[in-house]
Amino acid sequence: MSNVKLFFKLLGKNIEKIREPQSYEAAGLEIFCPHCKHNKFHHQYKLLNTAGLTFFNLDFANRQAHTLTCARCGHIQWYGLEISRLVDE
Ligand SMILES: [Zn+2]
Repeated sequence: MSNVKLFFKLLGKNIEKIREPQSYEAAGLEIFCPHCKHNKFHHQYKLLNTAGLTFFNLDFANRQAHTLTCARCGHIQWYGLEISRLVDE
């Protein structure tokens, strides 16, 4: 029983870690919030999917985008190209 409890305790800790805001870069430049200049963001994928494009069978034109929500002020930035996470050292 104690091992099971430990497992869930560690799992919970790891999930908290994943949810912590991170630093990112695009085109080799660190990303900062344009509003408050913070550099920690919550990352999400969004599908740029429109009903119109699907209707005309142009799903190939639908793209995936990344959004970064500033951890301090909540400003949301959109990126249509790949972004990468900066690893804290
Ligand atoms: Zn901000």
